[in-house]
Amino acid sequence: MGKLIVIEGTDGSGKSTQFKLLTQRLQAQGRSFKRLVFPRYDQPSSALIRMYLGGELGTKPSDVNSYAASAFYAVDRYASFKQDWGQWYCSGGLVLSDRYTTSNAVHQASKEPPERRAEYLRWLYEFEYDRLGLPRPDLTIYLDVPTDFTQRLMRQREQDLGTQADIHEQDMAYLATCRESGRAAAAFYGWTVIDCVKDGAMRSIEDIHEEIFAHVAKLLEE
Ligand code: ADP
Repeated sequence: MGKLIVIEGTDGSGKSTQFKLLTQRLQAQGRSFKRLVFPRYDQPSSALIRMYLGGELGTKPSDVNSYAASAFYAVDRYASFKQDWGQWYCSGGLVLSDRYTTSNAVHQASKEPPERRAEYLRWLYEFEYDRLGLPRPDLTIYLDVPTDFTQRLMRQREQDLGTQADIHEQDMAYLATCRESGRAAAAFYGWTVIDCVKDGAMRSIEDIHEEIFAHVAKLLEE
């Protein structure tokens, strides 16, 4: 089997930014790897995700329960594993992913009351890894950013790119709960947490990248 490295975090925590820097650096080192980004919005396997995020199944994230929404995202990953990277991974290849099963833990566990979250988290890993047979990550980097910072970064990005927020991104109370459930999931599963805010300010993109790269380099040396 190969190695799977995942970059995870709440919306607007800097995942895409860090993913790009990390893949560029590995590319510059001449490493070969596959690059995945979830969800695959341009693929038919994400149809239910698009309906959900577009508000067709309800206008609030809580209108679709955590188990149903998790299944939508899981089948998109399953299709991608079958079509795109399963063979590469199974023959020893390196795979880097911007979001993964871990995103369900961040976004969907938050819909469960605190006393039901551990049950959901146990179900999620069993469903995707043991039952669907998707690979477990060797390293999950979790970018931890307080919600008031992610809110600013997301609005800035919408302005820069001219994009519109989906039902997750519009709902600040939901995102604040996701931050809490994301931290709880990181502790539950033992993810590698990167504190992106220091002394009340967002750390620089480069500084965060160096910390992430040190973890990745260590894994790749093993
Ligand atoms: P995500 O993929 O987690 O939703 P992005 O990587 O798209 O987040 O980042 C959201 C916005 O914040 C982007 O406009 C990005 O340029 C900016 N950004 C990311 N990391 C930092 C940082 N450390 N400091 C300042 N701005 C950042």
